[in-house]
Amino acid sequence: MIFKTRFAPSPTGPLHLGHAYSAMLAHDLARSEDGQFLLRIEDIDQSRSRPHWEEQIYDDLRWLGLRWPESVMRQSDRLAVYDRALDDLWARGLLYPCTCNRKDIAAAASAPQEGAPLHGPDGIIYPGTCRGKRRDTQRPTDIPLRLDMAAAGRVLTGSAQPGAKVGSFHESGAGPNGETGTIPFSLGELTDTIGDVVLSRRDMGTSYHLSVVLDDAAQGITHVVRGQDLFEATHIHVVLRALLGLPTPQYLHHRLIRDDVGKRLAKRDDARAISKYRAEGASPADIRAMVGL
Ligand code: GLU
Ligand code: ZN
Repeated sequence: MIFKTRFAPSPTGPLHLGHAYSAMLAHDLARSEDGQFLLRIEDIDQSRSRPHWEEQIYDDLRWLGLRWPESVMRQSDRLAVYDRALDDLWARGLLYPCTCNRKDIAAAASAPQEGAPLHGPDGIIYPGTCRGKRRDTQRPTDIPLRLDMAAAGRVLTGSAQPGAKVGSFHESGAGPNGETGTIPFSLGELTDTIGDVVLSRRDMGTSYHLSVVLDDAAQGITHVVRGQDLFEATHIHVVLRALLGLPTPQYLHHRLIRDDVGKRLAKRDDARAISKYRAEGASPADIRAMVGL
């Protein structure tokens, strides 16, 4: 098996220092293992993706000295693949339509008997309002679909016990609390700390979680290198992989590059755009030094 890493930017803004760090780590790791570094354009959010951002990403990555095979995977070409996976999960009774908006979810999650609303990787943990409502035989394509996490866990463990071990992954970096090595997780952890995440958004017909899993598998990625902010989401990805019969890669979650006040860098943080450093005369070596490489 060829050692493969990837960088999977969304072309919705400039490449900033945090992205550059992630891309260089994945690139360097593949090089050091005599493997391959692949690129994937995560453009399922067509309302925010722009061709000029994509061009800028290629240009900045090349300037940083990164090289990748010419065939770049593009999520917007793969909607049929996402559809098939959703059909499969739907047919197995693992998805349900959800018509709640943010306000409904916040209200249901903060009902007096619920205590303070808990947050998971995608925000407030869905309180399950629409779970168990009648489902049509046909999968609806114009309503968000959620994964029934308890049902998924039961499929994977054959048990409904909260302590049942659902899966594990190998972490060669570290999670936000220093988690490293083999990370096992239980059914109860999934339902209590993640909940029923959306797998198909109304406007996209898929979601980050579903697409990233199918695409990493299709590209044969053996080592997923990305920021610690996605450590919790990795649990969702391991579950989806198992449900869809896909092998689990290894994961390397890296520290986040923060700005001076300790905030995580966001794409709108144009002050940290690679293009800005370039315009100011920085060299690729300066960028590497800035992120501690
Ligand atoms: N497109 C995602 C991002 O920009 C990729 C996340 C991942 O590497 O899985 O954050
Ligand atoms: Zn709902």
